[in-house]
Amino acid sequence: MAQNIPELYGSLVFNDKIMRSKLPKDMYKALKKTIQNGTHLELDVANSVAVAMKEWAIDNGATHYTHWFQPMTNVTAEKHDSFISPTGDGQVIMDFSGKELVKGEPDASSFPSGGLRATFEARGYTAWDPTSPAFIKDRTLYIPTAFCSYSGEALDKKTPLLRSMETLNKEAVHMLHLLGNKEVKHVSTTVGPEQEYFLIDKELYCQRKDLIFCGRTLIGAPAPKGQEMEDHYFGSLKPRVSEYMHDLDEELWKLGIPAKTKHNEVAPAQHELAPVFDTTNVAVDHNQLTMEIMKKVADRHGMVCLLHEKPFEGINGSGKHNNWSMITDSGVNLLDPGRTPAENTQFLVFLLAVIKAVDDYADLLRISVASPGNDHRLGANEAPPAIVSVFLGDELTEVLKTIEKDTYFSGQNAIQMDIGATVLPHFVKDNTDRNRTSPFAFTGNKFEFRMLGSAASVANPNIVLNTAVAEVLRQFAEKLEHIPAEDMEQAVHNLLKATISGHKRIIFNGNGYTDEWVEEAQKRGLFNLKTTPDALPEFISEKNVALFTRHHIFTKGELHSRYEIWLENYTKTLHIEACTMAEMVQKDLLPAIFTYMEQVAHTASLKKAVLDDISTTSEAVLLRKLTCLQDGMTEALEVLRTDTSKAQTYTDILTASKAYQTTVLKDMENLRKYADEAEALLPESLLPYPTYDKLLFSI
Ligand code: ADP
Ligand code: MG
Repeated sequence: MAQNIPELYGSLVFNDKIMRSKLPKDMYKALKKTIQNGTHLELDVANSVAVAMKEWAIDNGATHYTHWFQPMTNVTAEKHDSFISPTGDGQVIMDFSGKELVKGEPDASSFPSGGLRATFEARGYTAWDPTSPAFIKDRTLYIPTAFCSYSGEALDKKTPLLRSMETLNKEAVHMLHLLGNKEVKHVSTTVGPEQEYFLIDKELYCQRKDLIFCGRTLIGAPAPKGQEMEDHYFGSLKPRVSEYMHDLDEELWKLGIPAKTKHNEVAPAQHELAPVFDTTNVAVDHNQLTMEIMKKVADRHGMVCLLHEKPFEGINGSGKHNNWSMITDSGVNLLDPGRTPAENTQFLVFLLAVIKAVDDYADLLRISVASPGNDHRLGANEAPPAIVSVFLGDELTEVLKTIEKDTYFSGQNAIQMDIGATVLPHFVKDNTDRNRTSPFAFTGNKFEFRMLGSAASVANPNIVLNTAVAEVLRQFAEKLEHIPAEDMEQAVHNLLKATISGHKRIIFNGNGYTDEWVEEAQKRGLFNLKTTPDALPEFISEKNVALFTRHHIFTKGELHSRYEIWLENYTKTLHIEACTMAEMVQKDLLPAIFTYMEQVAHTASLKKAVLDDISTTSEAVLLRKLTCLQDGMTEALEVLRTDTSKAQTYTDILTASKAYQTTVLKDMENLRKYADEAEALLPESLLPYPTYDKLLFSI
């Protein structure tokens, strides 16, 4: 029976409609003010909201509440407390106070803190983020919160994200006022993250240690068929996948997550889900929830959802496209060219602010998506290169050229200074193929940052983007601040012109996958930070520390702690991968090869009775091949073990991560060559784990 979707949608969310109906009018107004303007929340309001929330949650089957937060792992964290409160006579009442809603005090000592912990108290606290609505999941009321150390250092991803949104708001509003748009009170950033994922059969998954421990395959010969036929992208959905997607949509809709688009992706067993965009903060929370629910629903369907950036060698990995824009409180998209000359000026100022921000902080944008998993994608022939550049399309690039050359929209001859004279055309999205190779593409009324990995939170890239754009808007404002109104147009024009000249090197409309581009980018002086250990040192460079501290996004201490955590995560991930691979080869693959050789040797010995010379038989040929591979594998395994032990001894985190990257990762690649070749020679009956053909084609 068809569900009533509008009724289902958001049914587990404490949303505006519920708030309005459950809260006394004055309390509702006070809360709205806090949500919209970030003003302080009085305790009586908090108490009133807590009561309404609790009653609504209990009506909807909840028994517990949790402060839900995003520590610097890749997952969210929660500790559940029940609403019960003993009354002293063996009875309980269901209780929830404003204080409990607003603040929690979880022990912070077991979360990554990158050294902050050493100097500060173990206690941390969580603070309610009223801008992201509470919801019910598994009979618990989830309250989105920020997570800090007791002395106020951010230990999570939400705190700096909220700070960056506030900074961008401040600078963008200031800029709009300077441009004469005095009505605007607030600017939010918006994000629509398109999420890629793989679905594989759960039974097969359970037979592979690499998938269980690492989320990706570490060995595996290619299947006879990969993605070369280009028949999976947008292909019709298989029944099992379709059922999964329906179920997933419903779960997400209940939580008020506007899941909109779903389709098969390029690689076999790969799919995508895109929601309608939302305010950055809410979009980040929703993406975390989406990833979690994707996995849960897959489990119900006897499948496993792989969010790793590169689960399989030889076919595309998974990314996440971060569609990003800025919107005013009256609903104007600042990256939309608009319909009037004034809107056009505004558009060009904000467009160029983004372009300059991407150029000035390309290193930070690259870092914001750095992870061991994503290192396998960036720069491979499937994802944008590790070089950050901006795609504008021919039309818009031409507009910028004419501004730079003072021939702005002036027809053939006249030089026209008046930038407000002509209405810009609406730039239709450039749907050419090469557009897809750009890491940062303008798509009509938003930018699409495409370097993100599928598994990571989208918080980091948005923290960088918001802060970098805010900083450029601040610099722009400095230039325009004291210009009298009659000279403003000229001043804006000069600013645009200078910005284009200074930053056009970041604009690249060609094919980002080619070697020529790598060469060209080097000539232009653009960063090419290939791996996580290459990129991370830039995170704490003077320029970047200055950016984050100026805007109060991170203190120097917070930056250094994040740098440590990031690299620690890198080395730990590679260490687990190396150990898992060694174990699979030693305990699964080598024994299988021994067994097979025994069988083959037995047949050979039988042949000895009838043949004078068995050295040219197929058994002998195969035995020699297997011996060769086995020897190579054993040697490569030893090298991997030695290098892994050595890498583990380095105490300096950067040295350690570089050791993992330059030796351990290479050793794994080397060992894999032998392993994959041997796997291809084994008979089906002796395969120690399910192979690529089954993993990719059995659903
Ligand atoms: P595709 O990139 O696959 O062609 P679309 O461009 O239609 O698809 O949209 C991709 C994503 O961009 C969707 O999640 C959509 O909601 C989001 N999006 C659209 N407009 C904006 C905006 N102004 N800000 C942020 N995201 C947006
Ligand atoms: Mg897209």
